Amino acid sequence: MEYTELIRKLSNAKGVSGFEDEVIAIIRDYAPSDVTLSEDSVRNLYMEKKGEQDKPLVVLDAHTDEVGFIVQRINDNGTMSFLCLGGIVASNIPAHKVKVLNSEGKWVSGIVAAKPPHFMNSEERNRLPKVEEMVIDVGASSREEAVGKYGMRLAAPVVFDVDFETSDDGEVMLGKAFDDRIGCAAQLAVMKEIEGKDLKVSAAAVFSSQEEVGARGADTAARKLRPRIAICFEGCPADDTVLSVGQSQTAMGKGPMLRHIDICMITNPRFQRFALDIAEKHGIPVQEAVRSGGGTNAASYQREGAAAVVIGIPVRYAHSHYGFCRRDDFENAVRLGAALMTELDKEIINSF
Ligand SMILES: [Zn+2]
Repeated sequence: MEYTELIRKLSNAKGVSGFEDEVIAIIRDYAPSDVTLSEDSVRNLYMEKKGEQDKPLVVLDAHTDEVGFIVQRINDNGTMSFLCLGGIVASNIPAHKVKVLNSEGKWVSGIVAAKPPHFMNSEERNRLPKVEEMVIDVGASSREEAVGKYGMRLAAPVVFDVDFETSDDGEVMLGKAFDDRIGCAAQLAVMKEIEGKDLKVSAAAVFSSQEEVGARGADTAARKLRPRIAICFEGCPADDTVLSVGQSQTAMGKGPMLRHIDICMITNPRFQRFALDIAEKHGIPVQEAVRSGGGTNAASYQREGAAAVVIGIPVRYAHSHYGFCRRDDFENAVRLGAALMTELDKEIINSF
């Protein structure tokens, strides 16, 4: 199956933390035939493979939300102040297009307003702007117009306005929200790969909500499912344009990254070794990383007793409007995920 169209839809889908509905609707459309689907009220989507329930449970996880904004206040002049949902660097925010969800359910185009240089004093010109000084402008001239004509209201979700595209050969993808829509696509592809297969484990995929504001969906899912194993698919920040070749551990085009540690988790070393060995056995390129930052939903499952690994697809410029990722990294993440699902059994899991 060709996944570029799915990735295009998922990347373009508007779903900041807490408002993941569009993403979930797309995933439901692509669900394999041998699963049951359910949701909870933090907006997790559970995709449970039908079959015997006495086998050890392996949970796949990818988060559906993306970083963005939420309207905090509608100002007298018709502009709107906002808060960030997730970690966004202030200097990346102004002078970009956004879409704001209005009271009729339509996405309205707006600009994160940057003060024209003509109105800046020298102090303003020489420092970074603060988020609380920025506003979103949909073109209204008063609060009444913003509300009445444009349908603006408090707590409206706001997403980066970016359209997915690919290089001519389709290898390099440019778009928004690859953290973690590329992970959602990979997880869905793995579920398709194991469709109809009789595994030695029970399998469920969680499309979890609200990761960017603190793994809230995964916390709920981990407590509900209490799996023995968790495999998290992430769009993780590529470092190859930031660090030297010798220092880089997450380069685009060198395969999925498996982290030994980040600030939320020490990866189960036995499961990590098993995953690395499986990659080698199947000739799947992978990168190993020892990360001094970062954190993923894997920690939520680990806290509930699972052995967890993270399969990270390198994404350049994560948490900004635009990112790059590569099709071969995506495909190798799917191959590794599918290989783990077919090789894991009770005895191996008990050895972790
Ligand atoms: Zn993420």
